[in-house]
Amino acid sequence: MTVLNGPRGVVDPVRAGTAVLDVRDLRMRYGTQDVLKGVDFTAERGEVLALLGPNGAGKTTTVEILEGFRMRSAGDVRVLGVDPARGDEAWRARIGVVLQSWRDHAKWRVRELLAHLGSYYRDYSTERVRRPWDVDELIETVGLAPHAHKRTSSLSGGQRRRLDVAIGIVGRPELLFLDEPTVGFDPEARREFHDLVHRLSDDEDTTILLTTHDLDEAEKLADRILILAGGSIIADGSADELSRRMSTEAEVKWTRDGQRYVHTTSEPTKFVYELFRQYGEEIADLEVRRASLEDTYVAMVRRFEEGTR
Ligand code: ADP
Repeated sequence: MTVLNGPRGVVDPVRAGTAVLDVRDLRMRYGTQDVLKGVDFTAERGEVLALLGPNGAGKTTTVEILEGFRMRSAGDVRVLGVDPARGDEAWRARIGVVLQSWRDHAKWRVRELLAHLGSYYRDYSTERVRRPWDVDELIETVGLAPHAHKRTSSLSGGQRRRLDVAIGIVGRPELLFLDEPTVGFDPEARREFHDLVHRLSDDEDTTILLTTHDLDEAEKLADRILILAGGSIIADGSADELSRRMSTEAEVKWTRDGQRYVHTTSEPTKFVYELFRQYGEEIADLEVRRASLEDTYVAMVRRFEEGTR
C-alpha cells in the first residue's frame, strides 16, 4: 500500500487469474438508460482503490454488482475469481461491506454483537485466513475497547461508525467495500480510521474499494484512483499520475520586502530556482502547492464533459 508506483512482479496477476477484482466491459441498463457502457478495471491483493465520479455516474451500481447485490446487463466480472452473480456463502464470507450506517442491533452490546456476528464466519476459516477476527483484538483495532460493554444504542456517531467498520471486517475479508467511510467523523477519528485502512491493506493484505466524495481522503488512502464518468472509467492511476497527465499547474507563494507574491507555473522547481538565483535571501515564507487530487479531478471531469457536449 505504501509503495507508490513500486515495481510489480513479472507475473501479470490478471492473466494469472489472481486479481481480486477483474471487471471487463461491464454494462448496465436501467429501462432505456445505459448507465454503465463498458467499465474496465482490475485490482490486486492489498491495493486500495477509490472510485470517484459525479453523482449519478453509476458508482453505487458498479459496487452493488461487484458485491453480488445487483445483476449486471452484460460484461465479464470476477470478484476473488468468482462471478458475483453466482457467488455462494463461502465466497460471501471472504467479502466485507461497510455501508453508510446500520441502525439496528440497538439492544446488543458491542462485544456481544461482534462475537455473535463473527461466529458465522468460523466455518469459512482457512489455513491462510483465520476467521473470525479475535473479538477483543478487533475491538482494540477499531478503537472501541472502552466501549466494549456498552449497548450499541448508546454509542456516539463516531463510535457507531467504528462499530460499522468492525462489523464489516469481523470475518477478516480479503476484499472490503467502504461507502463514504468517514462521513461525520471529527479530524482525529478520521485520522485513526485512515490508519486502520492502511493497516488492513499493509498487514492483512486486504483489497479495499472505497467510494467517497472527500477527495482529500481519497488522495490520502488510495493507491489508485478510478474516475467513472459517462458510463466508463475515464482515468485510472495514482493521484500523482493523474495530476501529471493533466499537467496541472502548481502555485508558488513567497514574500519579499514584506510583500506577498503568488505565481502559477507548470515548472515550480525551475521557477523557485530562478527566484532564489535572482533574490537569494530576500525570499521568505516560500510555499509550493502542487495540484491536489481535487484540482485534478475537477479538471478531468470538466474536460470530459466538454468533450461530450
Ligand atoms: P452514483 O452512485 O454514481 O451516484 P448510481 O449508481 O446510484 O450512481 O446511479 C446511476 C444512475 O442509475 C442514476 O441515473 C440513477 O438514477 C440510475 N439508477 C440507479 N438505480 C436504479 C434503479 N434501481 N432503477 C432505475 N434507475 C436506477
